[in-house]
Amino acid sequence: LAFTSLGLKQDLVSNLSSLGYEQMTPIQAKTLPEMLKGKDVIGEGQTGSGKTAAFGLALLNKLEVKRFRIQSLVICPTRELADQVAKELRKLARGIHNIKILTLCGGTPFGPQIGSLEHGAHIIVGTPGRLEEHVIKGTLSLENVDLLVLDEADRMLEMGFQAALDNIVRRTPLDRQTLLFSATFPEQIKSISESIMTDPIMVKV
Ligand code: AMP
Repeated sequence: LAFTSLGLKQDLVSNLSSLGYEQMTPIQAKTLPEMLKGKDVIGEGQTGSGKTAAFGLALLNKLEVKRFRIQSLVICPTRELADQVAKELRKLARGIHNIKILTLCGGTPFGPQIGSLEHGAHIIVGTPGRLEEHVIKGTLSLENVDLLVLDEADRMLEMGFQAALDNIVRRTPLDRQTLLFSATFPEQIKSISESIMTDPIMVKV
């Protein structure tokens, strides 16, 4: 299936062809139409499936660049993954001017992150511990988030981030759209998805 069938913003579509993305991967073909309708989606996808571009395109299509507020939050288990996700988002966003994507991960000094937050961003990509620190200290406000992504959710739960995730997610608006990607579906994933998602559509590839 071609990306052109989705009704994505023209800036995104023309950039996709310059990136050499012509056909959707199976996870993209199954999740994108639902995500673009605004539905909550649970996607089973490993690294290499194209899941980042799947949620990335949904996120970038929904974003209003003129509204300089944090509109999307992507939570990842590790700093490496967060960097990788931010890199892919920047690639996909090349056709959109003035878009600001900020990563907030542990292992880097806290102070400069406060400075970056004061300058504003549209999209935050981060890890649970550091994001939780920011929301508790009041340096990160999530009141304008209308799209939340949990990437590799099973790994975040394995790493003991359940409480941090709860603490972050409950500071986002209830009427947000929520997307969850996970390689496996243990009981804990079912229960977190039931508590934070609304009528989610399950997609297995
Ligand atoms: P991911 O599973 O998100 O880690 O993506 C795996 C790799 O596939 C990344 O390097 C992407 O840039 C690339 N990719 C994602 N979607 C497509 C696509 N539709 N066509 C070609 N390459 C893609």
